[in-house]
Amino acid sequence: DLLVVGSANADLVIDVERRPGAGETVLGGDLAVHPGGKGANQAVAAARLGARTALLARVGDDGHGRLLLDSLRTAGVATAGVLTGGAPTGVALITVDPSGDNSIVVSPGANGRLTPGDVRDADRLLRTSRVVSAQLEIPLETVVEVVRRLPEGGRFVLNPSPPRPLPREVLAACDPLIVNEHEAKVILGGAAAGDAPEDWARSLLAEGPRSVVVTLGAEGALVASAADADEARDGDGEGDGVEVARVAPVRVDAVDTTGAGDAFTAALAWRLGTGATLAEAAGYAARVGAAAVTRRGAQESFPTGAEVGAP
Ligand code: ADP
Repeated sequence: DLLVVGSANADLVIDVERRPGAGETVLGGDLAVHPGGKGANQAVAAARLGARTALLARVGDDGHGRLLLDSLRTAGVATAGVLTGGAPTGVALITVDPSGDNSIVVSPGANGRLTPGDVRDADRLLRTSRVVSAQLEIPLETVVEVVRRLPEGGRFVLNPSPPRPLPREVLAACDPLIVNEHEAKVILGGAAAGDAPEDWARSLLAEGPRSVVVTLGAEGALVASAADADEARDGDGEGDGVEVARVAPVRVDAVDTTGAGDAFTAALAWRLGTGATLAEAAGYAARVGAAAVTRRGAQESFPTGAEVGAP
């Protein structure tokens, strides 16, 4: 079973002719309210694919919180771990101009009140999960507590978004650490050994994770891990005991890439829990991410397992 630990936000979106400057008021189109936040997105994406999924998160005792609970339950996510209260539900205020550029203000709200104590109280959820997937839209100390309480044999997957330097303890638990180019650069903080994604993958692996996935948008992804003994002896030319493999991109007509990374991570985490290898899981995740970019929105764009086809 998959446990996602992370954020739940209401995305409030208004289309505008142009975004307002300081002291200015502009009129926009009708308000659209969408369930979002990386934690809720990942949980919904996994459940749609058919994964038994639970979410550990915190929302406010308000209408946005009820909207999120509703969308999670509709997707089939177990919501006993979605705690209520402490602050208003997290919100992203999004304005979008005609060219598609957006400006976003995020109020973390209740997401910022998901504490290490909440993780301790969710011990039963943690113990029954094969894979635990987290992001960084909740306090880092909460993610640290998750890492400390992983069950024996449990696997930890982290998408460090929004990115920040990570303690060694968290990096060492990641199997894999999943990053896009921007996240890779922030985590490495100038420690990248070169310009190619393969170089970032190797540099990231040297920081401690057991495995690394670099997502490359329309170019697909890369997976990197320590080579097993045989491959280390044969070598892949680099002789550093690291195996890096490309995950072929899936060609689609992209309409909106919002949520692609969340769908990719959810799919990968689920497949790992079923015993798939990292390369197999990433191949499936690339099909899920590609499907998600063919439709508008985040959660609305996530495919069902039937749409993606057999893993
Ligand atoms: P993020 O949203 O975190 O920046 P990416 O944009 O790299 O993540 O997307 C995650 C994954 O989704 C990619 O690795 C790829 O598999 C898939 N994907 C994203 N954009 C496209 C696209 N235009 N065409 C096909 N697949 C895509």
